[in-house]
Amino acid sequence: MRVWYCRVCGLDYDASPWGPDGQSPDHSICECCGVEFGYEDYTPDSARQYRAKWLASGAAWFYPKIKPLDWQLEVQLQLVPPRYQ
Ligand SMILES: [Zn+2]
Repeated sequence: MRVWYCRVCGLDYDASPWGPDGQSPDHSICECCGVEFGYEDYTPDSARQYRAKWLASGAAWFYPKIKPLDWQLEVQLQLVPPRYQ
């Protein structure tokens, strides 16, 4: 199984919300940064813009209840695919 990482925050997913071909976003919401897959993460520029906004607003989890206790923002951000960093 190939892990997929959020283009905005680097959270890992078992399945790509962009579909098997990488071109078919399901428009679900990232559990961490709240980006809508296929919308704000459509291009590297839009992903960076959304990330900057998210970081500036405090980098809160979209679903705070599932935020890991030992979550480390800086570590996760390093998992953002290089093209989108
Ligand atoms: Zn995310």
